[in-house]
Parts: sequence; structure tokens; C-alpha cells
Amino acid sequence: MKICPPQRSGQKVFNTDENGFPIIDESLCIGCGLCVRACNFRAIKIARVPAPLEKDLIFRYGPNQFELYRLPLISEGEVTGLVGQNGTGKSTSLKILAGLLRPNFGKYEQSLDWDEILERFRGTTLQNYFEALANKRLRIVYKPQQVDAIPHVVKDSVRNILEKHDERGIMDIIVEELLLNKVLNRKTTELAGGELQKLAIAIALEKNADVYLFDEPSSYLDIRERLRIANIIYNLSSEQKKTVVVAEHDLAMLDYMSDKVCLYYGTPGAFGIVSKPKSAREGINVFLNGYDPAENYLFRDTPIKFHQAVFERPEIGQEIILSYPAMKKKLGDFELIVESGQLTKGEVIGIAGPNAIGKTTFLKLLVGIIRPDEGNYEPPGGIIMSYKPQYLQEFLGDEYWMTVNEKIRSVNPRAMSDPWFKNFVINPFDLEYILDRRLDELSGGELQRVAIATTLARDAEIYVLDEPGAYISAEDRFLVAKAIRELAQRKQCCIVVVEHDILLLDYFSDRIIVFDGQPGIRGQASKPLSLREGMNTFLKYLGITFRRDPETYRPRINKIGSRLDIEQKARGEYYYTRD
Ligand code: ADP
Ligand code: ADP
Ligand code: MG
Repeated sequence: MKICPPQRSGQKVFNTDENGFPIIDESLCIGCGLCVRACNFRAIKIARVPAPLEKDLIFRYGPNQFELYRLPLISEGEVTGLVGQNGTGKSTSLKILAGLLRPNFGKYEQSLDWDEILERFRGTTLQNYFEALANKRLRIVYKPQQVDAIPHVVKDSVRNILEKHDERGIMDIIVEELLLNKVLNRKTTELAGGELQKLAIAIALEKNADVYLFDEPSSYLDIRERLRIANIIYNLSSEQKKTVVVAEHDLAMLDYMSDKVCLYYGTPGAFGIVSKPKSAREGINVFLNGYDPAENYLFRDTPIKFHQAVFERPEIGQEIILSYPAMKKKLGDFELIVESGQLTKGEVIGIAGPNAIGKTTFLKLLVGIIRPDEGNYEPPGGIIMSYKPQYLQEFLGDEYWMTVNEKIRSVNPRAMSDPWFKNFVINPFDLEYILDRRLDELSGGELQRVAIATTLARDAEIYVLDEPGAYISAEDRFLVAKAIRELAQRKQCCIVVVEHDILLLDYFSDRIIVFDGQPGIRGQASKPLSLREGMNTFLKYLGITFRRDPETYRPRINKIGSRLDIEQKARGEYYYTRD
């Protein structure tokens, strides 16, 4: 039994910590739930850890703080993928495997010495690993999650940084592979998110280590870059025989590069349990099913299902809400060319394309934030549009001081009493417990969920969401996708969504707009294409094909040059293998 986080509870408590903050004495807590209701900030969660697990407790941050049960069982020369909700301990596990945190088995008051730790792991599969770690026989490289922090630590140029860390003498190859040529002379403070991510991965790859740990390597990257990274990570183990562990939310990528997968269950922020390793296919299928038969653990009521053939609803494309003309827009050195198109009632339009190709620019044209240079377009006055910008700073604007509740009410005072909104947005997005928190206090994932909820709360005919999948877990992305589909059909509105995750694009789109061209220089937006045509166009551009998992119909990337890959390319069917 544990309660967290304790700092905000405004009620009578039994104890205080060294800073004078109240702490609820866990031994006295009977789980009555009174504190949860009494706390004005809704900051308390009570979570019950399954009893048989008590002996598997590996780490605890402090009193009433997050607890991690078990560690992923990693194998030499293999890629182990980690997947699960945010706040269930993936980063904590990686930090323990990296030796940055020492297992304390719940005894956070003291730092255990290695002898004691090794004694606890005796006879387990992790014994060898921690013995090698303790005796400094393992060289470990760790790519942290927060790449945004790099410019605060080093301000040097990309070239200097890469030269300094190049133990394996592979700098030129890496720069080429990760397309870092253009930014070699830039300082870290001048890099965009995706460039920082690639720099962090490049540094890790340059080092000569036994174990490589990557925490969310796909954040900020587009699908092409994700594939390159997935290939490099896969080769680290398959060719170099290195041990690799990757925490990743993009399921197609996780599937492509992992030999094995460990799932994380639990209550985010309170405790996390690591499953035994499964094959990549089985692990991801279990994740989608929401139930793990091996552990008898149900972590979601409804499975996530894919369709095997193109799923086209006949009503789509019938009633036009808005037509836009062919347009051109120049921004600095970049030019965007848009083919004319129409948005119709009840549909979700996915937007696919690499970074810096003009997706955000197109959305801004559509909602009228900027005007085209060519093409006579202005959003029609009578149509209400609701827009979520890509950068959450724009969403916050000067309203960062508002609480979540106030922000949602400010766009639609009735939203909170709408049962649909409660059932499909507030509850599944897990917003109830942060309703009274200020926007500027939220984590990236929480703020993203609030921004999406606020956008969907507006009463509009067209909803435009720029990269709603950024910062949030695979689990949350499917919940968002579900809410989007539901809203489009229920309200007969049109929802336009930029997404880099192919599985999600397939899951929520009725039609797709594909962007191609030369990133940073020229971008071209297609008209809305049917799902089949859109997927084929986009995947042909990327040069990859998908097959279907026979059990869940989940799309899986074919290894390039494999029999299926060659066969499907010849047939021109990159995605849907059946009619
Ligand atoms: P994940 O990587 O699965 O998103 P993390 O391992 O980052 O999860 O975090 C698990 C939980 O531990 C979160 O609730 C987080 O707030 C908490 N946590 C992380 N670091 C600390 C810390 N230094 N002190 C206390 N709690 C922490
Ligand atoms: P995407 O959303 O596909 O990543 P964007 O539409 O944000 O792409 O940007 C396309 C290109 O236009 C990028 O190279 C970007 O640097 C450039 N760009 C965007 N806004 C401006 C601006 N205001 N001035 C100059 N260049 C810009
Ligand atoms: Mg963008």
C-alpha cells in the first residue's frame, strides 16, 4: 500500500519530513480514501501493490514515493525493448542498469554497498550483470530521455562534441547515417529537438561499450529518421553483439529492433512492475490485448484492434465542410506547395511526412494564422475551428497560470458536465487528478494531454491537431486516437491530425495527406488521398513495406530485402496485403 505524492495534502497528517512537508505514515494508512477526497489539489493516489510482489521490490525513491518491482531481464547480444505507461519506471530501470541509481530494495534511508546488493541478486539472472557492474568490468553507455537538457550541459559545436567522443572512429559514418552534415558547425543551443536527439544517439554510438541503453530514442524524430535509428540499434546487437536496452513508445519501431520485450504495468507515479521478457511479437500483442496471461494481469479493459483490409466508411467524403484552393507559401528559404482539397463531415484526416517539410505551415494556413502568397484562401467566417499547435509553449501563451479546469472551462464552460467528454476524454486521459493543478506545473506528457483535451472541448466543426502524440506513451496515444475517432463520428466534424507513428496513422485515419519534397527547402502537400493510396504513396517514398500479424492484424515492418518486402514492392502494395 502506498500513497503519493504527499506534499500537497492539506489535511491533518501523522508526520512531517525534513523540509516540514506532511507525510502520511504508511503503516497507519488503511486505504480508506478519505485523504484523497480531502486533498484540495487531488494530488493523492492510493495504489495497492499485488501482494505476492512485495519480495520483488528493487527500488524506492523515498517515503510515499515511486516503487519499482523487478528489473528487465536483459540478455547479452540482444536488444531488449521496454514498453508501458509514462511514470511506471522505465527510465528508473535504465538508470539502475546504467549504475546511476543503486538498487535499495525499498530501504531508501541508507545507501547499500555492493556486497549487500549482490547478495540480494544471488542466484538470479541479474547476478552476473551487477557483479560486472560493481567490479567496473562493464562499460555502459546511456542515452537519457531528456535531450532538451543537452544545451544546458554543453554549448560546444556538434563537430567538436562528436570528435571528442569518437572512441570507435566512426564519426564520419554516423554523421552520414544520421544526416548530421548540415548542423556540424552549429552549437547545441541552435539545434532543434530532432537534431539534439540525433546528436545524443550519435554520441552514444561513438563510444566503445558493452551495454547500450537508449531512453526514448524516437522522440522528435520523423518516421524516416526513426527507421534509420532502429536499423542502427538493431545492428549494434546483431552485428556487433552488443547488449542493448531501449525504452520506446513507437510500437512499429520497438517491434522492428527488439529481440525481446518487457512490459511495464502498475499505477503511473505510484508503482511499476516489470514483466518477464517475451518475444517482441508476443510482447506487443499482449500490450495491444491489454491482458497478460503469463502474469494474469489485466491492464486495460478493451483490446486495441487493427483492421486487416482497408476500412473505408461509405459516408466519408459525402458532405463537404470546407474546400481550400491550391496554395503556395514562402517562409525564409522554404517553400510550401499545397494541392487543393476538401474536408468532409465525419472524417479523420491523417497528415504524414518527414520533419521540416511544411506540415505545421499547412495547418497554420488552414486555420488562418498565416495567409498564402498564392491562392485565394481565408478560413470561412461561419466555420468554427479548434487548433492545437505543435509547440506547447504556444498553447500555454500567457495563460500558464490557469488551472487545468479553468483552461478547459475557458474554451467551453459546459464541457466538464458533458458525459461524452468525461467518458472519452477526462477519464481515459487520466485528467481528473490534475484538474486543479496549474498548467505551468505539469510534465510534458500531462500538458500534451491537457492541450488535446482543451482542443477537443471546443464546440467546433473542424479540429486541427499538430503532433498530439509527442511526449505521451503508446497507451495514451491509442486513447487519444480513440477519442478522435469517436468525436469525428459522433459530431460529424472533421479532424486533421499530424502523426509520425505509422500504426496510429492507420488506426485513426479515413484519408491521408502525404507531404514529400526536400526537408527545409521545399515541401509539397497532396490532396486528401484514400487510406490505401495515401499509405502506398507515403511508404513508397520511405521505401518500406508492412506485413500483418496473423493474430492482431497489427502492421509489422518487413526487413528491407526480405521475401515479403520484395514481393510487395513488386505488387505496389506497401501496406494493405488484402482487399
Ligand atoms: P517512465 O520512464 O516509465 O516514464 P520514470 O522511471 O521516469 O517512468 O518515473 C517513474 C516515477 O518515479 C515517476 O512517477 C517519477 O515522477 C518518479 N521519479 C522519477 N525520478 C524521481 C526522483 N528522483 N525522486 C522521486 N521520484 C522520482
Ligand atoms: P514540419 O511541421 O513539417 O516539421 P514546418 O512547417 O514547421 O515543418 O516548417 C517547414 C520549414 O519552414 C522548416 O525548414 C522551417 O525551419 C521553416 N520555417 C517555418 N517557419 C518559418 C519562418 N517563420 N521563417 C522562416 N522559415 C520558417
Ligand atoms: Mg511541425
